[in-house]
Amino acid sequence: MMRTQRIERIVTDVEALGLDGLVLTPDANLHYFTGLHFHHGKRLNLMLIPTSGASPCLVVPALEQMQAETNAQLPVRLFPWADQDGPLGALAAAVTAAFGRDARELRLAIEPANMAVMHLRALEAVMPGVATYDATHLFAGLRMVKDADEMALIERAVQIVETALHRVLAEIKPGMTERTLSRICTDAIIAAGADEESFANLIASGPNGASPHHLNSDRPLQQGELIILDCGARYRGYVSDITRTVALGEPAPEAREVYELVQRANAAGRAACRPGATGTTIDAATRDVIAQAGYGEYFIHRTGHGFGLETHELPQIVAGSDQPLVAGTTFTVEPGIYLPGRFGVRIEDDMVLTADGARSLTTFSRELIVL
Ligand code: ZN
Ligand code: ZN
Repeated sequence: MMRTQRIERIVTDVEALGLDGLVLTPDANLHYFTGLHFHHGKRLNLMLIPTSGASPCLVVPALEQMQAETNAQLPVRLFPWADQDGPLGALAAAVTAAFGRDARELRLAIEPANMAVMHLRALEAVMPGVATYDATHLFAGLRMVKDADEMALIERAVQIVETALHRVLAEIKPGMTERTLSRICTDAIIAAGADEESFANLIASGPNGASPHHLNSDRPLQQGELIILDCGARYRGYVSDITRTVALGEPAPEAREVYELVQRANAAGRAACRPGATGTTIDAATRDVIAQAGYGEYFIHRTGHGFGLETHELPQIVAGSDQPLVAGTTFTVEPGIYLPGRFGVRIEDDMVLTADGARSLTTFSRELIVL
């Protein structure tokens, strides 16, 4: 979908709420709607998009002006400001251009999680009486369903991380620490063609695997234990997110049993993915398999999460998430079992809903790999 179409859709949604426009700050939404990507900085950088149909207006630090001109994928009016002048003059000019001369009591949609107080104070300074509305759900709803261009980038991000994961498994040796393996993983993901890792990879060996959000440590990998590897690649903005659990030498019988249980739960979750399914129904599919085997209390997180420009987006694949999902929605299925003091297992796949079912973008073997 073209960027202009994306903007038309969000503008329609914002207008339906009776608002005058929206404000985007440097984040995934700005990238989604304009192709522009800026780092979160301390210089004021924001875009105003009026519902009137006038062009988006970007207030931009002068040192980022060239980048904005090069990368904007739709017509944008630029309002650059230099360090010696400060941003308020440029912002006032942008507000007038976007909303007209008497732009005072405007009602604007924002995404609070991505807006700094700096942005809000600047808007209030230039437009006394401005009111802001949390439009997180509108942005999230649009971004949840991917178009063909987005899917191509996501599929590439998945290929990259799977190529990297093959290389990483070939490097694992007893005695190597989690941190060393983590560095190998980072390098492999970049070498396979990623812009960067989509998140700091997680390497959890032996008892550390019982903590789903373990921080990589200096613990050496030991023969006979399970190792959880959770990693992802970012490619032109879009991410992948995969987890595999492998064994360093033949594991204890219960570890293999638990592995095979998680494997069945993962398969049940994937089989429950189809248009019309909900976070609730897919979560129940994985959880029922684990609960029936008596391990229910050890599956201590949601089944999955949406992903795209960010590693964690909507939908949530969890009980209580009851919106029927439609074709083009991407999310993970990642059941796990975590036995405190002993070991953990998680198997995570990246799914997309299709017209008549679903497809796993991740194709890496789900059989237990014994290194
Ligand atoms: Zn993951
Ligand atoms: Zn995940």
